[in-house]
Amino acid sequence: MVQARDVHKVFGRGHDAVHVLKGVDLDVARGSVTVVLGPSGSGKSTLLRCVNELEEITAGSIHVDGDLMGYRRDDKGVLHRLHPKVIAKQRSRIGMVFQRFHLFPHKTALENVMEAPVQVRGLTKGEARRRALELLDRVGLAERAEFYPAQLSGGQQQRVAIARALAMDPELMLFDEPTSALDPELVGEVLAVMQDLARSGMTMIVVTHEIGFAREVADHVVFMDDGTIVEEGRPADVLDNPSEPRLQDFLAHVL
Ligand code: ATP
Ligand code: MG
Repeated sequence: MVQARDVHKVFGRGHDAVHVLKGVDLDVARGSVTVVLGPSGSGKSTLLRCVNELEEITAGSIHVDGDLMGYRRDDKGVLHRLHPKVIAKQRSRIGMVFQRFHLFPHKTALENVMEAPVQVRGLTKGEARRRALELLDRVGLAERAEFYPAQLSGGQQQRVAIARALAMDPELMLFDEPTSALDPELVGEVLAVMQDLARSGMTMIVVTHEIGFAREVADHVVFMDDGTIVEEGRPADVLDNPSEPRLQDFLAHVL
C-alpha cells in the first residue's frame, strides 16, 4: 500500500539546512498496521507528513496504492510536479490524526465529521449526516453527536477526530502520537478504537510510544533514529529482542 524509497527531507537551505530524513525505505502492506517508534527529533512526524504530502520530499519517492505521490513521470522519465488539485485528490485518500485533535471548536462533533464530505466530496447534508452518525456510533460517541469539542473529554475529542478522518473513506490512516496529549485514564478508549479499526482491515501507520499497542496490534514495528530506520521487524522480535543498542536504550526508557 505504501512504498517509500530512499526518502530524504531537508528543511531550509545553505547554512540553515537541516537534513531530517536521510534515506528512509518503508513498505506498508495493505491491511497491515505499522508502528513507528523513535526518540524525539528522529523524524517520525516528518515521515508521516511526507507520506501525506503535508511536506514535499527533497529526494526519493513515495507510492501510495501504486500512485507516485506529488509527481508524474513523463515518457522520458522526467518528473513533473502534479497540479495542486491532483495532489489534493491524492491526499484525500489518506486520513491523518494528530496529537492535538484540531477539531473546529465552533462546530458540534457531528458537524466536525460532516464537514469534509460536504465541502470536499459534495455529499448532501442528509447523506453526510447519516454517515457521520454511523461513524460516531462506531467510535462510541453516538450520544455525544450534538456536543461541542469543549464539552468533550480529550479522549472523546480524539475519537471524533478519528471519525472525522474516516468520513473521507481513506485507504490509509496515519496517526501521529494520538494518545500522548491525553490523561492516562483516557488513553485506552482511543487505543481501543484504533485496534477496532485495525481489525476491520484498515491500513495504518501509527507513531506512538504505547509499546503495549505495538505488541498487540502492530504487524510491523519500525524504530527510527536520526532520520533513518535503524531496526524493523515483527513486534516480538523488535520489542523483545532488539539488536540495535539505540533501540535497547530507547525501550529501556519508555517501558
Ligand atoms: P517528536 O517525538 O518530538 O514528535 P519527531 O520524531 O516527530 O519528534 P520531527 O517532528 O519529524 O521529529 O522532527 C525531526 C527534526 O526535524 C527535528 O530536529 C525538527 O526540529 C526538524 N524539523 C521539523 N519540521 C521542521 C521545519 N518545518 N523546519 C525546520 N526543521 C524542522
Ligand atoms: Mg513528532
